[in-house]
Amino acid sequence: MINLYALSFPELSALLAEHGEQPFRARQLWDWMYRQRAGCFADMKNLPRATINKLMATATLGDMVVAARQRSRDGTEKRLYRLRDGQLIESVLMPYEDRRWTACISSQAGCALGCVFCATGQMGFSRQLSAAEIFEQAMRFARELSVRGERLSNVVFMGMGEPFHNYEATLAATRQLMERLGIGARHITISTVGLAPQIRRFADEGLQVKLAVSLHKTEDAQRSALMPVNRRYNIKTLLDACHYYAQRTNRRISFEWAAIAGENDSPEEARRLGRLLAGLLCHVNIIPLNSTRGYVGTGAASASIAEFRQILAGYGIRSTVRVRRGIDIDAGCGQLKSALIAQEL
Ligand code: SAH
Ligand code: SF4
Repeated sequence: MINLYALSFPELSALLAEHGEQPFRARQLWDWMYRQRAGCFADMKNLPRATINKLMATATLGDMVVAARQRSRDGTEKRLYRLRDGQLIESVLMPYEDRRWTACISSQAGCALGCVFCATGQMGFSRQLSAAEIFEQAMRFARELSVRGERLSNVVFMGMGEPFHNYEATLAATRQLMERLGIGARHITISTVGLAPQIRRFADEGLQVKLAVSLHKTEDAQRSALMPVNRRYNIKTLLDACHYYAQRTNRRISFEWAAIAGENDSPEEARRLGRLLAGLLCHVNIIPLNSTRGYVGTGAASASIAEFRQILAGYGIRSTVRVRRGIDIDAGCGQLKSALIAQEL
């Protein structure tokens, strides 16, 4: 069976031509898939029955199976997917005000970077996802939403894995989100642990896609203890790449700060962060740490976060606090962990 989501438009046209279909059928099928967001071939009303039958016998819309669905009290939804080779990944859909919907998607099965506070990091790396597997996570949410008369408006690469450790597939999937689902570049965010060479490469792409950088600490020894990748690309190397990005694109970087009680929420840390980021076009996004099984730390208290933000403001740095979402179903930042869930099923 051929997964049609994995094909470009020219590839889809060639496939239909091989089956003896007239050229305009490719455009019709493409529209059914991406404009109407049909969930099955039988729904494609203006295709001849014979064409539909042929498609049902030889092709699929997607390549993954839903292994579990969960819904949080706050409306956040999580999906566990089984991929063709049995690998498991998760993606999350979050409702926001003004009928905006954000999909949080995975770029890898597991992650090789081993940040100690992250459930995905705790499970290790299984394999890269293909562009089609990355795209399909968003495509499926877009499909589900269109049945409800809603539209997927935003996508963040903040699920399992490090998108810049799977650079080509991430960029290919990003372009598909824009071209096929009509999601504006400014409504897509790629979050990186801080792979400096890829940040520079990304700056040169000429895309309007947003960049988020996970910083979490201001001193090398301590950042390395939390995020082993810092031994490879230390804070200076990372910040140099961020300055390059800001100069090249004139775009504001969002620095993510997983606020951990007693670890990185002190006024001194806020002052160091203020000095570190001074003069850089940026914003700080504070995420109170979500608990994971493999790490004892807990989220910073709101009083210390408030003081932290006030200090940053004194350096002219704007910050926001991300509202916790989907915690009751382990769908929060850093909580995605397919292997453990699979054991529990
Ligand atoms: N690999 C990428 C993107 C996935 S993680 C990255 O690391 O940036 C998305 C964000 O969630 C990152 O900022 C990450 O540091 C943060 N995160 C990881 N574990 C977390 C946890 N337990 N609580 C809160 N945020 C966490
Ligand atoms: Fe990987 Fe990001 Fe988790 Fe670090 S925080 S282990 S880079 S997914």
